[in-house]
This record gives sequence, structure tokens and C-alpha cells, in this order.
Amino acid sequence: MKNLVPKKVRAVVFAIFALGILAGGASYCWQSTPLAVLAMIIFMVALGIHLIFYRCPHCGKFLDRSTGDYCPYCGQQMDPEEPPQDK
Ligand SMILES: [Zn+2]
Repeated sequence: MKNLVPKKVRAVVFAIFALGILAGGASYCWQSTPLAVLAMIIFMVALGIHLIFYRCPHCGKFLDRSTGDYCPYCGQQMDPEEPPQDK
């Protein structure tokens, strides 16, 4: 499988998580069990995507909560589409 850019994975996971929070909030407001179950499923999907796809595109190590531009394991830049920054 082609490695995904961690930034994009993070954006997707964040979007799904936001959806889960919305569903959770709605289920709480309306006392709706199906919505609560849906929220749980959404959270689990977000977590699953995070665990499976949030990896370094170079060495394939799981990045956990790392949000830097460079891999903490191999030091390579996370986003191959972005030119390296001069600093
Ligand atoms: Zn790496």
C-alpha cells in the first residue's frame, strides 16, 4: 500500500473525530441511543485510521502523537510534497 502523507491522515482523522463529537453531542441532547452508538463507531473508525495510517512515509514507524514536520525516528521530512524549509 502506498504510504499516505501524515498531515493528510491527521486532517482526515480530525474531521472524523469532529463528526463523532457532533454525533455524541446530539445523542446527549436528544437522549438517542442509536446516535451514541454511531458516535462510538465514528470514534473507533477515527482511532483505527490513526493507528493504521499515521506512519512515517519513509521508515513506516508509527508516529503516535508526533506532529512535527520531521520523523522522530529517521529524521526525514514527513511531507514529501512540501519543499524543505530553510532554517
Ligand atoms: Zn521515519
